[in-house]
Amino acid sequence: MEQKRILEKAKAYRDYTAENLSKIIQVPGFSRTEKERVLLLKRLCEEAGMEDIRIDGLGSLLGRIGAKGGKKLVFDAHIDTVGVGDPAQWKLPPHSGLVKDGLVHGRGASDQLGGAASMITAARILKDLAYKGGYEVWFSFTAIEEDCDGLCWKYLIEEEKFVPDFVVSTEPTSCRLYRGHRGRMEIQIEIRGVSCHGSAPERGESAAYKAARAALAIEKLNTELKPDDDNFLGKGTITVSQIKVHGPSQCAVPDQAMLYCDRRLTWGEDDKLAIAQVERALEAAGVDKFKVFMPEYAEPAYTGLVYKQELYFPTWKIPADHFFVRSGVDAYKGLFAAEPVVDKWTFSTNGVAICGRHKIPVIGFGPGDESQAHAPNEITRVDDLEKCAAFYAALPYAMEARS
Ligand SMILES: [Zn+2]
Repeated sequence: MEQKRILEKAKAYRDYTAENLSKIIQVPGFSRTEKERVLLLKRLCEEAGMEDIRIDGLGSLLGRIGAKGGKKLVFDAHIDTVGVGDPAQWKLPPHSGLVKDGLVHGRGASDQLGGAASMITAARILKDLAYKGGYEVWFSFTAIEEDCDGLCWKYLIEEEKFVPDFVVSTEPTSCRLYRGHRGRMEIQIEIRGVSCHGSAPERGESAAYKAARAALAIEKLNTELKPDDDNFLGKGTITVSQIKVHGPSQCAVPDQAMLYCDRRLTWGEDDKLAIAQVERALEAAGVDKFKVFMPEYAEPAYTGLVYKQELYFPTWKIPADHFFVRSGVDAYKGLFAAEPVVDKWTFSTNGVAICGRHKIPVIGFGPGDESQAHAPNEITRVDDLEKCAAFYAALPYAMEARS
């Protein structure tokens, strides 16, 4: 059986996987400055025996293993990280990549360079096993996820016409099997008033007071949002994240206000619904002369390309009895003789574009804990890396056995 050989190989490659992760951590790569890290990953993919290795227009790296022509199964890791925050809060240098006592240390260890390292090992295992099954197995190392989740995949699918049939996100799941998460969007509200001299405020119309009423209306709207039908994703939320008020001087009634909102979307909620809700809430609170809209992401990639999208990240989930989820369960049980925990992420992933926008099934399985993401002293477990490498290599076999 493949399972036994896969487990043996994942164990034999345990140090290789941890060392690769250490190397990747040591080359910093934040959103839009991933170039050096991508070039390192390209060398690691070549060494692992991948073919058709290429870098796309937005700077993401792709590589393939096995036969061509079948349905595309893609393993995805975003390889940018967030910044390090306050360096004083790190016990080790943030990019140390130290491997010690079964842990790998450094920014991105869990979110989510560990997934990338396990993917490279899985490719090497599939190469060793001379995998020639019915799936075209691809590995994607994608850019700019932390700044604008899913942008890299919207680009791959819509512009490069690289359209997968199935995608595994290797974001941290603590080796649980995930099948969805809430979507999100950013909402901007602009409100106008009429300025006048501060000594006679009754002559004007204060944008500050309108903004205050609007903020309280949004607080109330948040309490009225409902969970999804089966309560898998839970309820959507909205919160005001910024308020700015401007006027002609410190001694004037302000004539402009801006509120910025973070909206998390559950199943059945989309951008149009969320904007209409905010408009209705403001009207009900007596706020007038306002505009509600979604801002755009329009920053250049390290390649120089500017690929824009609105700050909307659609909700996604696939059913627990979906072929892809069941295949994941089969792969897990075949390797580890136990039932995996099937659950969801709290945060957002590239799944927003792949499954949320494009309805391509996604599951999640990754090393490390979601709670490590964006935190100081980030670590991941070498045990998880080994387990994930085995799971990724076993999945195409499990999918074939089930279809
Ligand atoms: Zn991540």
